[in-house]
Amino acid sequence: MPDQSLRGVLDLHVHCDPDVKARNVTDISMAQRCLESGMRGFLIKSHDWSTHDRAYIASLVVPGCEVFGSLCMNLSHGDKVNPFAVSQALKTTGNALRCVWLPTRESAYDMKRNKTGRPGIPVVDEHGHALPEVIRTMELCAEADIVLASGHSSNDETVELARAAKIVGLKKFVVTHATSDPWTISPDNIKRCFELGAYVEHSYVALIWGPGTPFPDFAPCPVETLLEYVNICPERTFLTSDLGTAGLPFPDQAMLSFMRLLSERGVSQKHIDAMAKDIPAMLMNV
Ligand SMILES: [Zn+2]
Repeated sequence: MPDQSLRGVLDLHVHCDPDVKARNVTDISMAQRCLESGMRGFLIKSHDWSTHDRAYIASLVVPGCEVFGSLCMNLSHGDKVNPFAVSQALKTTGNALRCVWLPTRESAYDMKRNKTGRPGIPVVDEHGHALPEVIRTMELCAEADIVLASGHSSNDETVELARAAKIVGLKKFVVTHATSDPWTISPDNIKRCFELGAYVEHSYVALIWGPGTPFPDFAPCPVETLLEYVNICPERTFLTSDLGTAGLPFPDQAMLSFMRLLSERGVSQKHIDAMAKDIPAMLMNV
């Protein structure tokens, strides 16, 4: 019996098998879990490969579940942000590409933060301005009216990206998992991004990771901190699981826990519905 509270919920950040890391769902089993749990659908994220083609196939195999694809700008697509990869994904049968993530694991910021000695994929030049290939990617996302997400960028880079997105006329710029430890964006910078028209994502995984989990080095975000962020502008904030990791809860369970937690902590049902259902649906154009 599906839980009615998941009716209409879209999780825009799910890591599925096949992948280079162990996952607890495949594209297909996640779609089946949606049907069983009452969840509306999900967006597949892979750090390495575009998932627009997989999403299309999954939606054919499991009718009734809405599955969306995304493309993450890591080294599998070259050592610069690659607008050609975006244009080809947008032309592909099925029309399932709904999000482009700027570099994550191989971003210049993560490479520096992790002291790899490698340059990583940049999003800004030496003056801190968005690079031409980033602007071109924003233009493609704006034309197609899909999401461009900040990926693993620094605070300064994220604000610059929000500024550039506004100039380009990109309506769906998303600040990725703003309360996830190594990529936390300060409340002041979140406010600046909101003023520039951005949407902000918060991920459930950031509340539960830490010692004893597959992410032992990341500090869990205190619930009080999450609530402060959520209350800055719930009208432009949305919730995701960022799960699929083997050994952690299933994404649909995480979404249910996330919504219950916010409800217990006094967030109104109206805002919870907006953050888990309406804003994700608007971002996916459904
Ligand atoms: Zn993720």
